[in-house]
Amino acid sequence: MYPNMNIDTLAVHLGREIEPHTGAVTPSITLATTFQRAPDGTFPDGKDVYTRASNPNRNALERTVATLEGGSTGIAFGSGMAAANALLMALSSGDHIVLPDDLYHGVRYAAQDVFARWGLQASFVDMTDANNIANALRPNTKLVWVETPSNPLLKITDIRRAAELAHQAGALCVCDNTWATPILCRPLELGCDLVWHSTTKYFGGHSDVLGGIIVAGDANNELVTRVRQNQMLGGGVPSPFDCWLISRSMPTLPHRVRIATATATKIAHFLADHPKVSAVHYPALTSHPGHAIAKSQMSDWGAMLAFELKGGRDAALAMTGKIKVFTNATSLGGVESLLEHRASGEGPVTRTPSSLLRVSIGLENVDDLIADLDQALNP
Ligand code: PLP
Repeated sequence: MYPNMNIDTLAVHLGREIEPHTGAVTPSITLATTFQRAPDGTFPDGKDVYTRASNPNRNALERTVATLEGGSTGIAFGSGMAAANALLMALSSGDHIVLPDDLYHGVRYAAQDVFARWGLQASFVDMTDANNIANALRPNTKLVWVETPSNPLLKITDIRRAAELAHQAGALCVCDNTWATPILCRPLELGCDLVWHSTTKYFGGHSDVLGGIIVAGDANNELVTRVRQNQMLGGGVPSPFDCWLISRSMPTLPHRVRIATATATKIAHFLADHPKVSAVHYPALTSHPGHAIAKSQMSDWGAMLAFELKGGRDAALAMTGKIKVFTNATSLGGVESLLEHRASGEGPVTRTPSSLLRVSIGLENVDDLIADLDQALNP
């Protein structure tokens, strides 16, 4: 419908077409759980049967995110983790997956604990070196799971190489694109088969709705068909209102991501020069080991960063009590800037350095954010 248009235009118009019966310029919310069937068994008014299986608001969201990612189908869920679980459930007992050693801790728990009990084998490797991926592959490897930049250390994986290695082993490659979003990175174009998102983050963008989605390059792939089935049978679907909220935030996605990224880049440089800071994890910095690869696969650096304090855990925790413009809270991708002592948030099995604070940059003025960090870093 919008051939060859830029992602900014697509983000405004996709899934938000004028409603034919009313002329409404914003979509209605279809709360109905069930839809009228004709005597011959068909559905003459639309294609939806029952909202767990599909719903107009969910269809619009799935189509939009799939198109922004350059995929052929999107499968939406009630949270990012519901999406991840549906994907892991699509594998079989005895299958093996390779995951990064630094990744969203919920996935680590799911793979190590829940799915290990169902016979799924998982290897966690440092994916900043592609040789580690190659060495971890087994004859029964079905999925290589990439998260880049990774949470919370912002490690960078070479997406092209990871996908190539997965394919050589007869496996698929999935990329968690939550942090970069399709505005900054397009994993399917780099060779991945699947992309997953927590749409709770930048897509929702306002810290007021949970969601997740799997986007696939090939809608007919067997694993993708099983994910779709898991959506319907597992029932972990987003409500029509949740879908509507995420769709409502879509037109501003490119602008939110770009503004927050520009701010994050300035903040990373400020922190890198600060005498109380021992390390800054942000790929824009030329000192970052993944700088060159990030540059080759992302159009900009993203609005997430992490930094460590020379004073260690105590200094980091103290800083969370001093910030005024930032909020000490978990999550990311909202309009407000958040700062979090990540090891505390991840619980007892965390691998995150205790001196580390993770930051999600929002839309506040950069000078106000820098002044806030500066006053919180100084006694
Ligand atoms: N992926 C990443 C990179 C995340 O940071 C998160 C949540 O923080 C998730 C996935 C999980 O998403 P959700 O909280 O929507 O289940």
